[in-house]
Amino acid sequence: MSVVQAAYFDGTLPQAHPAEVYLDTDVIRITYPNAEGFSQTDAWLVQKTRLADWSPTGKTRLQYGSFPHQYLDFETVDYQSVVQPRYAGQPPTRVGKRLWIQEKGFQAILVIVLLLIGLGWSVYRYGLSALASQVVELIPPAQEQALGNALYKQVVTGERLPIDSARTRLVNAYWQAVAVPARFPITITVVKHKEVNAFAIPGGHIVVYDSLLNRMTRHEQLAALLAHETGHIEYRHSLQQLTQTVASYAMLSLLFGDVTGLMAVLVDNAHYLTSLSYSRDKEDQADAFAVEALARQGINPQGVVWMLEVLPQEGASLTSALSTHPETAGRIAAARERVQKVTIEVTGAEDTRQLNSLWQRITDQRRALSSY
Ligand SMILES: [Zn+2]
Repeated sequence: MSVVQAAYFDGTLPQAHPAEVYLDTDVIRITYPNAEGFSQTDAWLVQKTRLADWSPTGKTRLQYGSFPHQYLDFETVDYQSVVQPRYAGQPPTRVGKRLWIQEKGFQAILVIVLLLIGLGWSVYRYGLSALASQVVELIPPAQEQALGNALYKQVVTGERLPIDSARTRLVNAYWQAVAVPARFPITITVVKHKEVNAFAIPGGHIVVYDSLLNRMTRHEQLAALLAHETGHIEYRHSLQQLTQTVASYAMLSLLFGDVTGLMAVLVDNAHYLTSLSYSRDKEDQADAFAVEALARQGINPQGVVWMLEVLPQEGASLTSALSTHPETAGRIAAARERVQKVTIEVTGAEDTRQLNSLWQRITDQRRALSSY
């Protein structure tokens, strides 16, 4: 029986026990003086003993058990000559799948601490919105679309928004006729609700409350609203804003490059979508998108101004007069300026007729329904 000297870490004490290690065929016996001074023998199954990839002292280290592991650090240089031939038939296998953090030990902790400091600093310096836009970059379009579908289901059923299917069909037909190109196919849902509201869901869904639709007097307002919401989707504003509301998860997913957990958390927070309010920058960006999109499709971009005159800020129900809302007044002024500068494409009379006839049908539906 071969005996080797080793330092034994029993997994409970930080100090090593000086131990004598007996190498049996299937078992490694470790005899050492325990805390009470008595000789004690622990047994490791050779089959479950692993050769550690890393040891703080650079010595040969065997590892046993689940966390906290037990270790044997071999003091003698004979390890190669004694232990290796002994188990030539069944050498302690290398540790297979281990977490990166276990593998790298202190290095990993250092890297994570540095990353956290960096993240904390950038959040402090640039704010949560910068963090959210970084995280959004990690989400590929296909996943954004799948997330959007889940969010849509969650918000429409969760908020119990009854769908106006007749006007949903007509408004979708209208938007298809306008044909603004976008990264995602846009699906519009008209819901029956007394609030004046509309919101965009990541990945291509737009929800329009019929009360807002009822305020509109021209089809250009509808085109402008849908273009504006499409702008929010195109620029991923709602995804960013939603991510910002679950910032701590966003930070973790940025750290670990894993967005799956974040997705589940976002769906849980879908109800925020109905009341997200965007920064003035984001609203301006979506308004600019709408002015350009309408002009390019040959629709009077003045529709954006007309739309803003009936649209409260997303999420906020229209309780006060719009003229008292400084944000909206500023947006109207900015939109007017943009309309002056943009070049409007000339479209065929046929296209104009089609849009007008669809708008007429949407308006007829309104009359057919009872009001709240
Ligand atoms: Zn908006």
